Amino acid sequence: MSGSVSKNGCAEKNGGATTVYLGHVVDPVDEDQYRDIPAGALIVSGDGRIMAVGKWSDLSERYSSSSKIVDCGRKLIMPGMIDMHIHLPQVTQIGKSGDTLLSWLEKYIFPAESKFSDLSHAEKIAAWFFDELASNGTTLAVVFTTVHKEATDAAFRIAADKGMRAIMGKVMMDRNAPPTLLEDSQNSIRDSEGLASKWHGYDDGRLLYAFTPRFAITATDELLRECGKLWQSSPGTYLHTHLSESREEVDKVASLFPQSRSYLDVYDRSGLCGARSVFAHSIHLDDEDLQVMHGKKCALAHCPSSNFFLKSGVFPIDRVKAAGVEFGLGSDVAAGPQMSIFGVMKDANFIQPKIWISPRELFYRATLGGAKALRLEERLGSLEVGKEADFIVIDPTLKNACPKDILDHGTDEILSTIVFLGDDRMIDATYIRGRQVFGRGKGSNAGSELHKVRGGK
Ligand SMILES: [Zn+2]
Repeated sequence: MSGSVSKNGCAEKNGGATTVYLGHVVDPVDEDQYRDIPAGALIVSGDGRIMAVGKWSDLSERYSSSSKIVDCGRKLIMPGMIDMHIHLPQVTQIGKSGDTLLSWLEKYIFPAESKFSDLSHAEKIAAWFFDELASNGTTLAVVFTTVHKEATDAAFRIAADKGMRAIMGKVMMDRNAPPTLLEDSQNSIRDSEGLASKWHGYDDGRLLYAFTPRFAITATDELLRECGKLWQSSPGTYLHTHLSESREEVDKVASLFPQSRSYLDVYDRSGLCGARSVFAHSIHLDDEDLQVMHGKKCALAHCPSSNFFLKSGVFPIDRVKAAGVEFGLGSDVAAGPQMSIFGVMKDANFIQPKIWISPRELFYRATLGGAKALRLEERLGSLEVGKEADFIVIDPTLKNACPKDILDHGTDEILSTIVFLGDDRMIDATYIRGRQVFGRGKGSNAGSELHKVRGGK
């Protein structure tokens, strides 16, 4: 084979031709199992679909002569990470400490979000945000923007241009927020409807719309009900909000909505519970709430790093699983101080005082489990034939603290190391629908080992 070396990590998409990625394929199956294919191959079509996955020795005869081949050596090839809850404008506020959720919002977050009335600022931060997602190996994010229509439109445009995948929406707030962020209820509905009709389903579903009331405290009954009607009449769209994060918040919601049985009931009465509704946090829930969530196929976004940071409480993972409610992981930047879903996986184990969550399950929650919760498992979440080629290449040894011989260990040990030591420094390349959106060697990440890219024989 002829030898040429890409200057961009893994090769760029090959102009419509089939590309073969050689490496150690690790692919989630369920909470307890994964497919383990050392010396494996992922075959990706020119339009970014997975054509085959398996041992290269079984596939080489068919694909080696007609395909571009990217040899990632012994590096891991895995599905991309799914972040089920993150705030775009808050990337500017990572690491700012607060004492409680509500005071932290007032002190740091609302002022940062107010700046998004300036479109040039909004565009700059959105570009930064999506580049960060790509470098962290996140191939799908469920995103809050701000209340600003133009800033949200810009965020969609930038995600579209960069090849990123997102479920995103304009925040809706019509009470209990600073005047600079408050909206008229009808304007909020009208602007959300306009953005949804423009962007939902863009590029064969690479971008999807989520109606995004911030939380019950900053929404009137009228806004929630109108939002529910709009969501129910917009097939395939999402509903994304916060639920039962802190005790202080739960108590405030009870005082604002005395007619509701629980915090979840506030949303349920407004028609906001169903398949494709995504509730971030969901810590302080009773059994009836969990039954409603299961019955209506709601999804939960578990955000352990954020819960640690704001001392919000412990996600009742055993009760959620027993109730059969689907859930994945969210970074909740900036209440979560890291964008890396690898760090979030680690925290999901650490935050449980008594329950050990295995690396296998954490890997599943960050990938296929998230896709299932979002009703996207037919298209995303694992490296199966027919799915879209959203994947990452991981080299654990890129991180200094990682044992240098880790790739000589068993796959369970490699997976454990990635979960407990992993962050963006292990990400070698990120692909969304077959298009490279991040690779070592680009920009400030120059200097790491490049993959060997070989032309077809
Ligand atoms: Zn949040």
